[in-house]
Amino acid sequence: MKAQPTASHYINGSFVDDDRGAALPIIYPATGETIATVRAATENVVELAIEAAREAQPAWARLKPVERGRILRRAADILRARNDELARVETLDTGKAIQETLVADPASAADALEYFGGAVGSYNGDYVDFGGSFAYTRREPLGVCAGIGAWNYPIQGAGWKSAPALAMGNAMVFKPSENTPLSALALAEIYTEAGLPNGLFNVVQGYGDVGAALAQHPAVAKVSLTGSVPTGRKVLGLAGSLMKHATMELGGKSPLIIFDDADIENAVGGAMLANFYSTGQVCSNGTRVFVQDGLHDRFLDRLVERTKAIRIGDPLDPDTQMGPLINKAQHEKVLSYIDIGRNEGAQLRHGGGVPSLQGFEGGFFVEPTVFAEVTDNMRIAREEIFGPVMSVLRFEHEDEVIGRANDTEFGLSAGVFTRDLPRAHRVIADLQAGSCWINHYNLAPVEIPFGGFKQSGIGRENSLAALEHYSQLKSVYVETGDVVSPY
Ligand code: NAD
Repeated sequence: MKAQPTASHYINGSFVDDDRGAALPIIYPATGETIATVRAATENVVELAIEAAREAQPAWARLKPVERGRILRRAADILRARNDELARVETLDTGKAIQETLVADPASAADALEYFGGAVGSYNGDYVDFGGSFAYTRREPLGVCAGIGAWNYPIQGAGWKSAPALAMGNAMVFKPSENTPLSALALAEIYTEAGLPNGLFNVVQGYGDVGAALAQHPAVAKVSLTGSVPTGRKVLGLAGSLMKHATMELGGKSPLIIFDDADIENAVGGAMLANFYSTGQVCSNGTRVFVQDGLHDRFLDRLVERTKAIRIGDPLDPDTQMGPLINKAQHEKVLSYIDIGRNEGAQLRHGGGVPSLQGFEGGFFVEPTVFAEVTDNMRIAREEIFGPVMSVLRFEHEDEVIGRANDTEFGLSAGVFTRDLPRAHRVIADLQAGSCWINHYNLAPVEIPFGGFKQSGIGRENSLAALEHYSQLKSVYVETGDVVSPY
C-alpha cells in the first residue's frame, strides 16, 4: 500500500520539498506499515509559505466577496466529484473505516467551502444613523492566518479553517497533524484547480515545533488550532504574547444524559455514536453517559448487545464499522486507560481487549469498550481518553445530574435524551458546554457554530460566527455637517 504525495509541502501554487527537513513516516494504522514519507518544514520552508501568503493576500482581499466565494464553491464541487478518492486517502492516513470517510470527511470540507463561499457575500458591517451624520462598520480580513490541524478529521479540519479564512479575504498557511499530512495537500491542489490564486492556501508539514513557528511568526495575524488542551495552552500563550487573534478547538469529556423516559433505541444509538464513531477519536464525544436509575439496567443490556455486533477490521472494507486507532502511542494510551478503569473498580461490560484480526496483526485496534458503575472521581470519567471507551454512570435526579455533568474543566459538548421537551431545554440551558444536542449526538452541520466553553477552547468554527473570527471590525464615522470645534 503506497500513498506517497508528489512532495511534502504546497507553497505558492506548487509542490515544494526541502530534504533537510526531518523525515516524517506516514503509517497506515490498520497494518503499521509505512505508506509514505514526508519531510518536516525547515525554517526556510516556513518562511517561503508565509511570504507567499503575505504577497498574495492584499489582491485577494480587494476582490468582491462573491468573486472569492465563487472560487470556493467551485472547489467544493471538485471535492465532491473526488469524494471516493479523497475518502480513501483519509482512510489510509487515519485508519478510519471507509464507510465513515465516504460520507463524513471530504463531504464536510465541501460543505464548509460551499457554505462560506455563499455566505460571505451577505456578511456585511452595520450602518448607524446620527440624524444626518452617520457611521458604518467594515468587516476586514486579518491578513495571514495559520491553521494547525489534529489527526482525527484532517480534511474536514483543513476545510473548516481555510474556507472562512479565505472567504473573508485572508490567506492561510496550514500545518496538518504530523500523523495525517496527506489530505491537506490534496485540498491545496483542488483550490488551485478551482482558480484560487497562488499563495493563498499553503501547506507545510511538521511536528509541534513547526506549529509553534507559525504561531509566533510576526507576519501571522491569527492562529486557529484544533488539538488537545495542553497544546492549546501553549499555542494561545504564543499567540497572546503577540496580541494575535486565536481560535482554539480543544478536547473534552462531555456528558450525555439519558432520562428514564427516553426512547431506548435512540438513546443507545446516540450513546454509541457519541463514543464509537471514528474509533472514539472525536473531540465532542459524550464519554460520560449518565443514565437515570429507572432505565439504567435495560439500557446497559441493550447497549452491550448492540456493541457486540460492531464489525471491527479492515478499514477499506465497506462493511467494516470500526477501524484502528491512529498510532501506537494512542493504542497504548487507550489500553492503559482500560486498565485504569478496571483497577478503579469500574465494571467492564464489554470489550477491553485487542481483537485478533488476520492480516492486521500490526494494526492499532482496540475493541469497543463499555464500563458500567463508573463513578465521578474515577480517572476514566475525568480524563479525555480519545478512544472507543464509554463510561456509564447512574443518576437519580435532574438537579443532581446537572451538577455532576458540569463538574469538569472541559465544556465542549453535551447531550440530553428525553421525551419531556421542557426538561430537555431546561437541562441543556444549565449545562456548561458550547455544542449541545437534544435527542441526538455529534452532528456538526456547517450552519451552526461549533466550539467549547471553559478549557475546551475559545472562538467558534462554522456558521457566520467563523467569519467573525476571521475578520476585524473597522468603525467609520462620517460627518455631513460642519466641524464643531472649541478652538
Ligand atoms: P495535539 O494537541 O497533539 O496536536 C494538534 C496539532 O498541534 C498538531 O498539528 C500538532 O503538531 C500541533 N502542535 C503540537 N504542539 C504544538 C505547539 N507547541 N505549538 C504549535 N502546534 C503544536 O492533538 P492531536 O493529538 O492531534 O488531536 C487530538 C486532540 O485534539 C484531542 O484532545 C481532541 O479532543 C482534540 N480535538 C478537538 C477538536 C475540536 O474541534 N474541539 C476536534 C478534533 C480534535
